[in-house]
Amino acid sequence: MTSEQVVFYILLALVLGLLPAIIGKIKGYSFLVWWFLGAAFFIIAFPLVVFISSDYKKCPFCSEKIKKSATVCRFCQRELSLK
Ligand SMILES: [Zn+2]
Repeated sequence: MTSEQVVFYILLALVLGLLPAIIGKIKGYSFLVWWFLGAAFFIIAFPLVVFISSDYKKCPFCSEKIKKSATVCRFCQRELSLK
């Protein structure tokens, strides 16, 4: 492999890694962690991030997206019962 090919495959991995990174970010996880995982292990990281459950839920009072572990809504400040 020439050095140009090495650079090409590294760039390809970084671009492919963006896909799980973006999906992970939407679901409330770290963009950088999923970018790294996606670039290093795209075959594993991509299905994993697609099937992993989102870290968010909807606030029952104001319907805003909040973290699953939240006990108080950051938008309407109402207390949420933990289920
Ligand atoms: Zn709320």
